[in-house]
Amino acid sequence: MKLSIVTPCLNEEEALPFFYKELSRYISDIDYELIIVDDGSKDDTVKVALKLKEEDPNIKILSFSRNFGKEAAILAGLRESSGDLVVLIDADLQDPPRLLKEMIKILEDEKYDSVATYRVSRKGEPPIRSFFARLFYRLINKMIDVQIVDGARDYRMMKRPMVDAILKMSEYHRFSKGIFAWVGFETYYLEFENVKRVAGETKWSFWGLFKYAIDGIVAFSTLPLRFATIAGAIVSLFGFIYMVFIALKAIFFGDPVQGYPSLIVIISLLGGIQLLILGIIGEYLARTYMEVKHRPNYIIKKRY
Ligand code: UDP
Ligand code: MG
Repeated sequence: MKLSIVTPCLNEEEALPFFYKELSRYISDIDYELIIVDDGSKDDTVKVALKLKEEDPNIKILSFSRNFGKEAAILAGLRESSGDLVVLIDADLQDPPRLLKEMIKILEDEKYDSVATYRVSRKGEPPIRSFFARLFYRLINKMIDVQIVDGARDYRMMKRPMVDAILKMSEYHRFSKGIFAWVGFETYYLEFENVKRVAGETKWSFWGLFKYAIDGIVAFSTLPLRFATIAGAIVSLFGFIYMVFIALKAIFFGDPVQGYPSLIVIISLLGGIQLLILGIIGEYLARTYMEVKHRPNYIIKKRY
């Protein structure tokens, strides 16, 4: 049995040595490969990784030509992996390596194809971020067919068939949490307490998370498009009722010129709805456009 460990890294020169030290405590007695995917780091991540590689020939390093995002790094790592088991793990020790043994043990059971982890608390995270995260999970789970567990991390160990299934999904806009759920398979959920990152800073800005949320919804649901149809139908119905009302009013009471304010209100309301719906259509169109270009998800500059 061989374990492939995939670690996406963006500017993790500080965290990487801690990570490796902690990780090696739990994998020294098994056959493994550690795939460090450098996602276009601007600091000395590659140098630090190379230093680790001098000591440990089981380390492989893929270095991207620029920052392509964590999803791209995950994809590259999965493609590179050759183990019967593959685990995705962050470099900042927020995904505790001490769980690895337990995950392997659970997967010895035929019944399970993967072990996913989720945080029981979001302690140590800004409350506003937790609030929006919760909101996001509630929203997306209403909109998509499969379920995503709130607080689920990308920290997950999978058997080979599941990895192959994930690699068959060739979309450009990848939302791993959705993909894991979409491919199915039997998943065991392992919980753990949230841990603060060991060094360095989170790579997520609020804006970045917002875009990630929109990506997730658009990638797995076309419900927002239906919103256009429904909104259009409702507005048309009101328009029709209003038309009848005005016609009757003109017939029975005459029509002295008035109603400028209501005209402005209706025009601006309709204008707003139209722009919103155009925007929604645009979101899907833009992604379709990116998909049909068939651009690679990432470019590997160098392998070590
Ligand atoms: N990461 C990456 N590319 C990116 C952003 C993040 O490879 O564009 C890596 C990062 O180095 C870390 C992991 O993804 O190993 C998770 O990132 P981070 O800790 O910033 O996210 P958080 O834990 O705050 O959600
Ligand atoms: Mg982190």
